[in-house]
Amino acid sequence: MAPSIRIDLASDTLTKPTPAMRRAMAEAEVGDEQRGEDPSVNALCDRVARLLGKEAALFLPSGSMCNQIAILVHCRPGDEVIAADSAHIVGAEGAGAAVFAGAFVHPVATPTGVFSGADVRAAVRRLGMKIPRSRLVEVEQTANRGGGTVWSLDEIEDIAAAAAEFGLSLHMDGARLMNAVVASDVSADRFAAPFDSAWIDLSKGLGCPVGAVLAGSADFIEQAWVWKHRMGGAMRQAGILAAAGLYALDHHVERLAEDHANARRFAELAADIPGVRIAQERIDTNIVFLDLRETGTEAEEIARRIEAEGVRIGVEDRFRMRALTHLDVDRQGVEEAADALRRAVRAGNPKSARSGS
Ligand SMILES: *Cc1c(COP(=O)(O)O)cnc(C)c1O
Repeated sequence: MAPSIRIDLASDTLTKPTPAMRRAMAEAEVGDEQRGEDPSVNALCDRVARLLGKEAALFLPSGSMCNQIAILVHCRPGDEVIAADSAHIVGAEGAGAAVFAGAFVHPVATPTGVFSGADVRAAVRRLGMKIPRSRLVEVEQTANRGGGTVWSLDEIEDIAAAAAEFGLSLHMDGARLMNAVVASDVSADRFAAPFDSAWIDLSKGLGCPVGAVLAGSADFIEQAWVWKHRMGGAMRQAGILAAAGLYALDHHVERLAEDHANARRFAELAADIPGVRIAQERIDTNIVFLDLRETGTEAEEIARRIEAEGVRIGVEDRFRMRALTHLDVDRQGVEEAADALRRAVRAGNPKSARSGS
C-alpha cells in the first residue's frame, strides 16, 4: 500500500472541502439545474458573470469541459486554435479540440506559457484555400506549465490587438485566474475584458470538490448550453456543488496570497539544496518547477524517497518535478516538504558509486 501522504504538493486540485464549505453545501437551496431552476446554480452563474464582466455564465462539471465547449462554440471542423505549446488544451485534454470540435491546435513555443501579438501574427495562416482557417487564440491565465505565470494586462492587450487584426476570437482558460488577480491586484473583469469567453475553475485553488464556470455573451452562453446538454454536462440538484463555489468566492480568494507566499518560501528553500534548480524565472503564483538534473538522481527516485516521508511532489519528466501550494498545506508544510527534499537529494544517486558525497 502507498504510504500515507501528509503534505501533498502534487496539485492544487487535492484540497478537501472545509467543514464550513460542507455546511454551505448541506444547506444549499436546490432545484433542477437542467431546467434553469436551481437557485444556487443561478446565483453562482450570475456572480461569475459579474466577476468576469460578461453577460452570462454556465456552470459545468470541470474546467476541461469549459475549454471543450468554448472551442466547440468558437470553431468549426478544420479551424485552428493558437495556444501555447504547454497549454492544457494541447497536452492534457485528450486532444479534445480535435475529437469534439474537429479543430487543430497551432502550438506556439514559449517557456513561460506567455506569447506575444507578434507570435499570433506569425501563427496566423494567410495563403489560399488549402490552409486550416485560423479562428481562435487561447490564453491560459495563469500559465500552468509555464510555472504559474501571470499574463500582464499589457501582454493580454498585445494579443488582443493581433487577434482583432485577423478577426480571431479570444478565449481565456482561467483555471487559475483568481490566483492571477490576487498576485497582480488587477481585477478579474479587467483581465477578462478582451476575451469572448473566459472561465474559472472552482476545484483548483478555490478548494471546491467539483465545478467550473464558463462566461461570455448571452449568445455565446446560449450556444454553450446546447453543448452542455449534448455532452451530458447538464445536472439536476447541482446547487449542492454551486454552494461550494459561492462559499469559495466569499472565503477562499484573498487567502490565495498565502499559497503564493508559501510557493516562494518553498522555492527559496529548494533552491538552497545543492544540485536543485528552480526551473522558471519567477514564482508569480502557486506553482514551482524544480530541475534535479544536477543532483544526478531521477525525479521518480526522489518522489519515492519523499513519499516514504509522507510528502508528495509531482513528477513532470525524468529530472523535473512540479510543486503546487494550496489551502491544505501551510507554511510549516512547505518547510517540511523542502526538508524531505533535501534529505532525498542528499541520499545521492543509487546508480552512481560516487554518490552521497
Ligand atoms: C486543471 C486545468 C484545466 C482543467 O480543469 P479541470 O477542472 O481539471 O477539468 C484546464 N486548464 C488548466 C490551465 C488547468 O490547470
